Amino acid sequence: MEILKTPEEMRAWRRALPVSLGLTPTMGYLHEGHLSLVRRSLAENEASVASIFVNPTQFGPNEDFDRYPRDEEGDLRQLRELGVDAVYLPSVETMYPEGYQTYVTVEGLSQGLEGRSRPVHFRGVATVVTKLLIAVGPDRAYFGKKDAQQLRVIRRLARDLDLPTEIVGCDTVREEGGLAMSSRNAYLSREQRAAALVLSRALAEAEARFAEGVRSAEVLRVIVSGTVGAEPQGELDYVSVADSETLAEIEGDIEGVALLSLAARFGPVRLIDNVTLGEGA
Ligand code: AMP
Repeated sequence: MEILKTPEEMRAWRRALPVSLGLTPTMGYLHEGHLSLVRRSLAENEASVASIFVNPTQFGPNEDFDRYPRDEEGDLRQLRELGVDAVYLPSVETMYPEGYQTYVTVEGLSQGLEGRSRPVHFRGVATVVTKLLIAVGPDRAYFGKKDAQQLRVIRRLARDLDLPTEIVGCDTVREEGGLAMSSRNAYLSREQRAAALVLSRALAEAEARFAEGVRSAEVLRVIVSGTVGAEPQGELDYVSVADSETLAEIEGDIEGVALLSLAARFGPVRLIDNVTLGEGA
């Protein structure tokens, strides 16, 4: 497994590789959710790269960049065991050299949901993903549906900038009990982790009501916020029922496909989760 640390090294490796290439971008501290993306990349491409980069520009000033969990050695061991061909491991200085001043902004899609609570987040995500796609030059890039808004922002930027990479969305991997896997789960106490199960339970409850025929977006929002609100350890940030494509909040009844998503804080950890209501993703 090659370890490539600069865009020049990365591009030279890619140019010498006359086969289809898949990329899985990550911030490391890998768990089964990340590994499911890597496995899909390995299955669908002749060669696969994973990137590990904790991207400072997608963290707000009061967020957890400094204490984001890191385990480079463990990550590299897992990627080697899976059979990844190369890991792209740039430093912050390589990605953002002194004088850096270019950012990618996906305007509408970045504004609601996570964007409201995290105003600089998607500018950072769009910028780093664009840089990774340019450096790696993959045929396909793999992203989790757990970060539903992120997936839509990246699909939009790839389309808008005519990037030649196919963006592939992959299902959310959950722990037993339903909690969506996340590197940040490492910072939950045992009690908080048990309390956080309320998120997937609330989403499943709303899904069941939708399956029974409930179409009112507001009724579904109330079901989710009621269930999460009943958990004293959780502090709900938002519940959204939005058009799955535009992410515009739905006011009346759900007619097409909707994204039901939420964010909540458990102690020091902010968690997100979502389900899709209706067909598609
Ligand atoms: P991160 O390291 O958190 O930036 O995540 C890297 C990629 O893994 C993103 O595309 C995430 O959406 C995806 N991912 C994170 N957690 C999960 C999960 N539980 N299931 C599926 N994909 C995930």
